[in-house]
Amino acid sequence: MKILVLNCGSSSIKYQLLDMETESVLAIGKVERVGMEDAIFEYKGSGEKIKEIGTILDHTAGVRKVLKALTDPAHGVIKAPEEIAAVGHRVVHGGEAFVQSVIIDDEVKRTLRDLFDLAPLHNPANLTGILAAEAALPHAPGVAVFDTAFHATMPRKAFLYALPYVMYKRHKVRRYGFHGTSHKYVSQRAAAMLGRPLEEVNIITCHLGNGSSVAAVQGGKSVDTSMGFTPLAGLIMGTRSGDLDPGVIPYIMAREEIGISEVNSMLNKHSGMLGISGISSDMRQIEEEMEKGDQRAIETFEMMEYRLRKYIGAYTAALGRVDAIVFTGGIGENSPIFRKAVCENLGFLGVTFDEEANNCRGEEKIISGPDSKVAVMVIPTNEELMIARETAELVAAAK
Ligand code: AMP
Repeated sequence: MKILVLNCGSSSIKYQLLDMETESVLAIGKVERVGMEDAIFEYKGSGEKIKEIGTILDHTAGVRKVLKALTDPAHGVIKAPEEIAAVGHRVVHGGEAFVQSVIIDDEVKRTLRDLFDLAPLHNPANLTGILAAEAALPHAPGVAVFDTAFHATMPRKAFLYALPYVMYKRHKVRRYGFHGTSHKYVSQRAAAMLGRPLEEVNIITCHLGNGSSVAAVQGGKSVDTSMGFTPLAGLIMGTRSGDLDPGVIPYIMAREEIGISEVNSMLNKHSGMLGISGISSDMRQIEEEMEKGDQRAIETFEMMEYRLRKYIGAYTAALGRVDAIVFTGGIGENSPIFRKAVCENLGFLGVTFDEEANNCRGEEKIISGPDSKVAVMVIPTNEELMIARETAELVAAAK
């Protein structure tokens, strides 16, 4: 069975075609600047990587262009679009309506529209991608896989905020959590690497990328996570502040005489690593400047490590016992220095650290010492594979 995985933003389409017999990637690419005359189309199939610049008016045109490349006699990987059995869509927010992946029908699309307010930047773009795939591939069922769904198992004491209860009842204001597909994938892989059933292990998964979140995963189920109502809460991220005293917000708004959209932009786009360091939202640049002795880069790095360590401590208390800590995401997979800084401070958990094993990037590896009480692992995430698996499973079950 071949599954097309789509991750649509407001002006972008990231895609992969996977063969589920072998779980291998047949083709991969992205479309950027959708809606513009100088849209960028990238495709890597059976031959060399292709990059073209030209007009792509909307998402449907983008998906059609992807299908043309996939079936191209020279560099294509399938003969006809009908070979694509189903399309798996990454959808950011499932709210309380979607606690697991679903086959998309009219009712699902209606509910997705109702959820626009919860993720105004992401969900409308996700629905546009769903409609584009339906137009270009009318034979292929679509499946929505939600970033929030894995965290639907959080208990009420973890997801409710201490606001007037009516804010939850009336507006559904609560912790939802994000990066669920990634936390789910790496926790499954971690149990496999430990050689133990998922149901028996407690894992703290640290997804550290441009957006970052930690999850406490008990027996394969998320019981708490650092992102909240929006992906702004929790860890210090590339440009997002993470946790903050909420009282800071009205104070800054009054002092700076700024409105909701400016403060939103400050918290989401000008804070985090970029805001503190004044250098960059990119960890590689922070590391470079640290090596040169830049004090703000050093402080940024220390704040990020400290914040993550506090979460690991908190989630250890939440779980009661921890069997593994997993690093994933661009930073988690590729920054030995950051992993080392965190692990060196986890002596209270009985963590010992294998410096040589840690010297790796982008590969599955146990980086704790043989005598460590908690296994520490690097696991490259694979959200597309997880989406394809859930899509294939649902479509097969519906037949
Ligand atoms: P993601 O959002 O998962 O793609 O992660 C992006 C983050 O990963 C950025 O902060 C990058 O600087 C960071 N990253 C990627 N490669 C490296 C690397 N080799 N060393 C340190 N950080 C990296």
